[in-house]
Amino acid sequence: NDPILTLRDVQVHFPIKSGILKRTSGHVRAVDGVDLDVYRGEVLGLVGESGCGKTTLGKAILQLVRATNGTVTYQGDGGETELTTLDDAGLFAFRKRLQIVFQDPHSSLNPAFTIFGSLEDPLRHYGVKTRKERRKIVGDLLEAVNMRRESMDRYPHEFSGGQRQRIGIARALSIQPELVVCDEAVSALDVSIQAQVLQLLMDLKREKNLTYVFITHDLSVTEFLCDRIAVMYLGKIVELCDAEELYSNTLHPYTEALLSAIPVADLDRKSQRIVLEGDVPSPVNPPSGCPFHPRCRYAQPVCRTDVPQLRRYRGKSGQHLAACHLIDHPLAD
Ligand code: SF4
Repeated sequence: NDPILTLRDVQVHFPIKSGILKRTSGHVRAVDGVDLDVYRGEVLGLVGESGCGKTTLGKAILQLVRATNGTVTYQGDGGETELTTLDDAGLFAFRKRLQIVFQDPHSSLNPAFTIFGSLEDPLRHYGVKTRKERRKIVGDLLEAVNMRRESMDRYPHEFSGGQRQRIGIARALSIQPELVVCDEAVSALDVSIQAQVLQLLMDLKREKNLTYVFITHDLSVTEFLCDRIAVMYLGKIVELCDAEELYSNTLHPYTEALLSAIPVADLDRKSQRIVLEGDVPSPVNPPSGCPFHPRCRYAQPVCRTDVPQLRRYRGKSGQHLAACHLIDHPLAD
């Protein structure tokens, strides 16, 4: 499969300003050197605890926050484009291809506008000239997300959370993107509604040949949805492989702990919960060596001094990446 996006050494560091003079006194290392390929047509899960940098990385993919270092390269029909070098006018064209669905649909639906008012906005920006055409497209979009066409003349507060999220998805798809970042897109919904919205996302992906980056803290959602999963900790990817491989052949101690927290009826899977001590350390002063060492039950002296690199292991897929000193037999680069 061809990559649609290639990230190399992407860093997003936010300055901390303090004092009357607002001098920079440090940096939040929200994303701290990420290499990642997103393949055309896949569902790539981006998982980790709150504060691990996954949402910032999703926004950096879309250039909603600009990387302070590194490259984000889009591979389209017309060749490669380096997104981090584009100015606002250049980015405008790319926003059509890359869209986002937020956890809270209120972020994309203005409560003062009807649904048509919110959904016609991107269409108008991207050249759909007549109101009649826009009403036709908005009606078709609403039907595509299993809503009635007449919903377009109602206001966001008249809909349930699940319905609003469907409308948020319709808005993201309105200008026919190729890649959609779903940022905790079902996390705020009841479990039964979550299943419906996930099914809808998968149906739309098939119909419209979409690529998804699916950001979530919930590893029970990603198992059946994602082709591959990247696990993030403190701004770095610590494990990346096929979804099935991640669940059946976990390599990284952090992933092991996350997976152990999923309630399972399946007795084949280890069900003993590994409780992670303490909180995620501050991304302002990350720990030396392996960033996970203060919470890792396997930590050795080397973990406190040396940063483990993301190395490749054979695994079942032949493409299993993990960053831990204690995993033996990496493949040669
Ligand atoms: Fe744990 Fe050391 Fe591996 Fe880090 S490198 S995950 S501290 S064993």
